[in-house]
Amino acid sequence: MSFLSGFIAIIGPPNVGKSTLLNKLLGQKIAITSPKPQTTRNTILGIYNGNDCQMVFIDTPGIHQTRSLLHKSMVRSAKASLGEVDVILLVVGLEDPANNNEMNIILRLLKKTDKPALLAINKIDLIRKEKLLPLIESYSKLDCFDSIMPVSALYDDGLETLREELKKRLSPGPRFFPPDMHTDKPEEFLIAEIIREKIYYETREELPYSSAVVVERLEEDNQRNLLTVMAVIYVQKESQKGMIIGKNGRMIKKIGKDARLEIERIFSLKAYLELFVKVEKNWSRDTRSLRRLGY
Ligand code: GDP
Ligand code: MG
Repeated sequence: MSFLSGFIAIIGPPNVGKSTLLNKLLGQKIAITSPKPQTTRNTILGIYNGNDCQMVFIDTPGIHQTRSLLHKSMVRSAKASLGEVDVILLVVGLEDPANNNEMNIILRLLKKTDKPALLAINKIDLIRKEKLLPLIESYSKLDCFDSIMPVSALYDDGLETLREELKKRLSPGPRFFPPDMHTDKPEEFLIAEIIREKIYYETREELPYSSAVVVERLEEDNQRNLLTVMAVIYVQKESQKGMIIGKNGRMIKKIGKDARLEIERIFSLKAYLELFVKVEKNWSRDTRSLRRLGY
């Protein structure tokens, strides 16, 4: 049998577990997740390397209606990715699709493409069977999907079936990326994202959305098995700087410690992490700042 490969776009509303699902499908964390919507800001490639296939997943920021410049650029990249893929994997949560505004936008997009679309209904660990069946029913009535699969990304339920269904839609083709490559993003990006994930977990209200992280220095000392990271957290206002630092530096210490432990786990190295906080006025509304911060 010939080698199979293809590109798969993961799309869906915010917060349904797209990034969690991607990490689980890859068996590796490459995308950060959080209970807050709009955690994912950049389009990230995740590469699954099998013996006889390669699946290149595109994790997109969620598709939703929006007015802010940052969010517009996120939605644009999600839509753009649809044009370039072989398969579309729509991930949804447990909400009924009827009268759902976000779902309407997405279904309209799907109807416009001729790509095979699979549906993963995620978070089924949170629902009883009697409720799940009508949900599946209302999705199949939409007549949009090649296959509908209930899954729980968090508890690794249904993912093998999902992987098989995806594999069936690949075509004979080359490995697009070397087999030891898991993502298109450099290590600096993943590290900045891990720090941003901890900010999402630790802070409240507008603070997560007002923060951006840039890794300014990354040094690997192979002899000492040590990774030295210097990163800057950008916020939009002086008052936010105070909140990120926290009373007696408590907040920034917690963010730094959680990020360091996760970096050590992912890279199997000891890490030394130094964090700075800087104010960049209204970066999320300024096209130039957005570009400089990687959006
Ligand atoms: P995304 O915005 O679609 O990428 O969603 P995330 O992957 O960031 O996940 C959003 C939240 O849903 C996080 O708190 C996840 O832990 C949670 N989540 C993801 N998958 C599942 C699942 O299968 N079951 C449950 N109960 N929670 C999940
Ligand atoms: Mg995400």
